[in-house]
Amino acid sequence: MKRVLLKGGRLIDPSTDTDERLDVLVEDGRIAAREHSVTAEDARVIDVSGLVVAPGLVDMHVHFRDPGREDEETILSGSTAAAHGGVTSVATMPNTDPSIDTRSWVEYIAGHESPINVFPIAAITMGRKGESLTEMAELARAGAVGFSDDGSPVVDANVMRRALEYASMVGRPVIAHCEDPALARDGVANEGPASTMSGLRPVPAAAEVTMVARDIVLAKATGARLHIAHVSTAGAVDLVRRAKEDGVDVTCETCPHYFSLTDNEVRTYDTNVRVNPPLRSESDVRAIREGLADGTIDVIASDHAPHSLEEKQVEFDAAPPGMIGVETLLPVALKYLVEPGHLSLGKTIELLACGPAGILGIERGTLTAGAAADVVVLDPERSWTPSREWFRSKSKNSPFIGRELRGRAVLTLVRGEVAFEHEDLAATPDEGDSGEEGDRSARQLPLHA
Ligand SMILES: [Zn+2]
Repeated sequence: MKRVLLKGGRLIDPSTDTDERLDVLVEDGRIAAREHSVTAEDARVIDVSGLVVAPGLVDMHVHFRDPGREDEETILSGSTAAAHGGVTSVATMPNTDPSIDTRSWVEYIAGHESPINVFPIAAITMGRKGESLTEMAELARAGAVGFSDDGSPVVDANVMRRALEYASMVGRPVIAHCEDPALARDGVANEGPASTMSGLRPVPAAAEVTMVARDIVLAKATGARLHIAHVSTAGAVDLVRRAKEDGVDVTCETCPHYFSLTDNEVRTYDTNVRVNPPLRSESDVRAIREGLADGTIDVIASDHAPHSLEEKQVEFDAAPPGMIGVETLLPVALKYLVEPGHLSLGKTIELLACGPAGILGIERGTLTAGAAADVVVLDPERSWTPSREWFRSKSKNSPFIGRELRGRAVLTLVRGEVAFEHEDLAATPDEGDSGEEGDRSARQLPLHA
């Protein structure tokens, strides 16, 4: 029997409203016990005093570029990067080449070898062309946890309406990329002083807000479950808030860059801040933080979008949109939400783990006894600055390189197996350790240095 005992940590499990010092015993890939003082024969004992133990993070919006652009990321490299960031489950977007619109491609993603859990999101329409619907029932049976044409909006409202009806029948959410192409045109930066000053083609906030409004109307009419991807504007937050009050079955996510960076960043012409939707104004950023705090926004997801150096080393307008993020999801949230006091650590973990698990309908985001032992141990306090070399993703397009962040994952367990372990943690004596009081108090914790 394989056992791991996490001793002396602060367990934060929002699924049970738990925040206290508890030992956690993992046995055969499941949570066997969480109590004040656990001892276990033959367990690997890991001293996690001074650290936080939480449900492994669930990132419901990643682009792993596999199949098609394996030079930028693969399921394996993306998963390794995810584990490095404390993420134990991801949902992959289907805008690969070819797109994930058939049973065999869904099975390819769902069955792929990976150190974490990889859940495929399948396309809404064949080839993501916005015309004919995919075989949703078959794709759901093959393992699709949701449907999205992400990367592109479903422009035809009738196609979207039928997609919502069918997805509803198979019990899966539709994940909407809300962007009206007639308003967004070929814009690359948020419409406002920053785009004007830098001479970059503008995208108005209305490009997002109008389609959020349309999709909420359609969700209400069909009674289907709608999840809105990467919300970036105050207007969208407001519409979702009112729709929820109105009883519409709608949820939404935002991404770390929409609560940490403003459109002023584009004035540097750093192509790593070119994202879609674009970085928005200070007041949008404030509205996103308010939406996170009051429960309007249900999820923080990375929209991890790897791009090669060659593709990003061009003029701002010519660069493809997107930044990597699966590794910095947690430290950006800790730096920009928890440190300034916008959110508690518990609420942040809820948005990163429990919220997305609930929307995807996967049995994760909890550390109750018997649950799958997908666990992250994190050091929530330490300030540090990521270097390019720190990232394990195949691509390095992150604007957070060289920026001070806060906290990070130091141990990631997936079904009880170590998927990532920080070298400082690995260096501590553990094999055969009985976990007695004496050993623990004698321990130096270089993580806090
Ligand atoms: Zn999108």
